[in-house]
Amino acid sequence: MKHVLCIGTGGTIASELAAHGLTPELQAGELLAYVPQVYSLCNVEHVQLFSLDSTNISPEHWLKMAACIRENYDRFDGFVITHGTDTMAYTAAALSYLIQDSPKPIVLTGAQKPIVSENTDSKQNLEDSFRVACSELCGVMIVFNGQVLRGTRARKTNTKSFNAFSSINYPQLAYLQDGRLFSFIRPESAPQPTWCDQLETRVALLKMIPGTDSDLVRYLLERNRALVIESFGVGGLPSYRNSDFYDVLRQGIAAGKTIVMTTQVQNEGSDLAVYSVGSRLKSDLGVLEAYDMTTEAVLAKLMWLLARTDDAGQIRRLFYTPIACDILFPVTP
Ligand code: ASP
Repeated sequence: MKHVLCIGTGGTIASELAAHGLTPELQAGELLAYVPQVYSLCNVEHVQLFSLDSTNISPEHWLKMAACIRENYDRFDGFVITHGTDTMAYTAAALSYLIQDSPKPIVLTGAQKPIVSENTDSKQNLEDSFRVACSELCGVMIVFNGQVLRGTRARKTNTKSFNAFSSINYPQLAYLQDGRLFSFIRPESAPQPTWCDQLETRVALLKMIPGTDSDLVRYLLERNRALVIESFGVGGLPSYRNSDFYDVLRQGIAAGKTIVMTTQVQNEGSDLAVYSVGSRLKSDLGVLEAYDMTTEAVLAKLMWLLARTDDAGQIRRLFYTPIACDILFPVTP
């Protein structure tokens, strides 16, 4: 029988109603008591790392999750992390860079309704997750509402319904129905994972709105090593009167900052070459482009790669190197 480690971190799945609203209270062992059927799938051990609403999860917690998996990697065949849904996609992306090419499944799951509720998705999500953690699928995944999604491709797209996550610009890996797992894609892996235990957290994100002041960009560039700009459509930056976005970006890049352009449109990715408001950003300034990557993955990838290097050429090469199928577009960096 396979051995699976269940790692509790909090979230709605573990929440109970407290004075000011739902609060994560239940430990991993208590969650498992609601799904005794998983003990017929595998031997289960559990550990509680923290009990947080995932709004309170930060990069230091990602490092702790990765460290916990690393410490236990040889003893277990798979891992299930119970986690709040709000930032689960960020954690999934981060773990995809911190633990690369894992031959064992590392599953994140949670729920929209607490396990103590009568009408809850918690039990099904947990049972499905253990099934995936016992399977031949590998790498970092989110299992939710019967879907198995790649960690680098998941995004929370519904705030309330059970169908909380979507796979962006990439098909779902597998699905579960009536206790059976059907897989479309078998992720590739290496005999052993490549581990990383550092992240550069000075990475910022700016969502453009019509009329955004370039001073905001200047401010964020001063305080961070990298800035991701979520612009419009396939991508571009405004050149309206009195705006000096291009100058601000040029100065930032000259000061060694990394700038990535992406789009606030969920599907199909960026293509800066199309419009004159975007094409010069790459050819003249040397900004990077996210193409089909999710913003969650872009941010996590920058945190991972900036912890490894400050060389602009290396940064560009690593950014465009596909990791866990995070970027698929044919790119000419
Ligand atoms: N606020 C909760 C969290 O992310 C939401 C959830 O788990 O569904 O921890």
